[in-house]
Amino acid sequence: MAKITKLDDIVSLCKRRGFIFQSSEIYGGLASCYDYGPLGVELKNNVRKAWWKAVVQMRDDVVGLDCSILMHPLVWKASGHADQFADLIAECKKCNTRTRVDHLREKVAEQAPLENHPEDELVAAGDSLLTEQAEEHTEHISIDAALAKAQDLSNKVCPNCGTVGRFTEPMPFKLMFETQMGANVDDSMTLFLRPETAQGIFANFRNVLDTTRVKIPFGIAQIGKSFRNEVTTKAFIFRTREFEQAELEFFCEPGTDDHWYEHWKEARFNWYTDLGLKKENLRFRVHDADELAHYAKACVDVEYRFPFGSGDWQELEGVANRTDFDLRQHQRGMRTLNKWFENDRDLTKIELSGEAEDYQSGPLSYFDDEQKRRYIPYVIEPSAGIDRSALAFLVDAYDEEEVRGEKRNLLRFHPALAPIKVAVFPLVKKDGMPEIAQNIYNDLKKYFNCFYDQKGAVGRRYRRQDEAGTPFCLTVDGQTKQDNTVTVRERDSMEQVRVSTDQLLSHLREKLEV
Ligand code: ATP
Repeated sequence: MAKITKLDDIVSLCKRRGFIFQSSEIYGGLASCYDYGPLGVELKNNVRKAWWKAVVQMRDDVVGLDCSILMHPLVWKASGHADQFADLIAECKKCNTRTRVDHLREKVAEQAPLENHPEDELVAAGDSLLTEQAEEHTEHISIDAALAKAQDLSNKVCPNCGTVGRFTEPMPFKLMFETQMGANVDDSMTLFLRPETAQGIFANFRNVLDTTRVKIPFGIAQIGKSFRNEVTTKAFIFRTREFEQAELEFFCEPGTDDHWYEHWKEARFNWYTDLGLKKENLRFRVHDADELAHYAKACVDVEYRFPFGSGDWQELEGVANRTDFDLRQHQRGMRTLNKWFENDRDLTKIELSGEAEDYQSGPLSYFDDEQKRRYIPYVIEPSAGIDRSALAFLVDAYDEEEVRGEKRNLLRFHPALAPIKVAVFPLVKKDGMPEIAQNIYNDLKKYFNCFYDQKGAVGRRYRRQDEAGTPFCLTVDGQTKQDNTVTVRERDSMEQVRVSTDQLLSHLREKLEV
């Protein structure tokens, strides 16, 4: 089974077939920002839908939410992001490029310098950067502590110019984008573009409790855009500054958290394999104790073996036991509100207020009817990336094979993810075939995303759909007029069967499982 081994190949396939384009391409492109084209937007929507279906709709214990991207600045003070969400970076004294310290690699043997074209970064450096070990942000870890850790950069290589060991001292680089809100000087304030969707869920915990009948254990899920001013991007849509996350905060009684952690670990791993990712390309990586944020009890990454360069395991999703940290922090945040007003709404002038002694019965506590007691629930958080998942589904589905002496490129997408489910063709553009095919197409498109094509040789049309990952092609031919049957061709096996037009919908529904 052929694999994509170069990032360039997937980038060019994505561009050629309208999956993904560089943002603002007509102006030379904006590094690390991407636009999803006609096929890409369908793929991404399908990834979202599949996540929402599995995590929200198919469960009785999870509800959804859609929060605003801009939130009260105290949210980020309480969560720790305003002070701690940073990467440690060092600047190369030769070319002035800043790199995440945890992304710097040791000099091993003779190493050819990468070309010095930051705007071409995804092509020039994509391969090598995907092979590096991506590490956690220093989120919520004291930057002072991270700085205090001995950082010997004397044998580290600048990924931009190849110079060894000529770096500045490591320094923190804040990852949140800032913006201003308000037209008047006295009521304007600095806000942040959210760097994760999770905090909107914690901030609405009380609202959900008060307006629904949820009882612990239950979860609140959200899909939405997040923004991080990442130091190292590159590698196409794997790491970008604007991206989409799918996050679930699952609230449970302390003491049951280990059970739910295992539950979600398994559920999330299976989600990827159920949607067609090959098991051998997926694994768990358990975080070591010294990697864990101070409040986290356990954390595991679901990693995918991206087949670029030498082939390297990279995080697709993290599943963490966050204990009761977040809700407790937001109770402290709520107690800090007055201080914030008194200090000109300037986060940099204030410290988060301490915790109330009876925090277990604070405003974000849960009242357990049966046990007649209040407590702050623990949280299990599966946090996935929609763009990263879409990239993994794309590279995993990619295949090349030889058919009768010709190369066939195809995307073996799971039907739920395929951008187009069914393509409808008349064999030729005459003898009433286009009219029959159009009628079938108009009927079927009410049920799934379909595509009509009557241009060129039918073999070519099949190949185009193979490359788009379309599971089924229907062809109306001479026989259709005689017996009301059409040819249904399956993408992976290329097998063709004749199906009566009045059975088409049920036939396809069964095959597509929709
Ligand atoms: P990394 O270590 O790769 O920077 P992270 O551990 O900081 O990621 P989390 O904060 O756990 O990531 O975010 C959860 C998920 O969101 C990640 O597993 C990933 O799928 C996605 N994600 C995070 N940052 C980015 C980004 N810059 N671009 C694309 N997806 C991202």
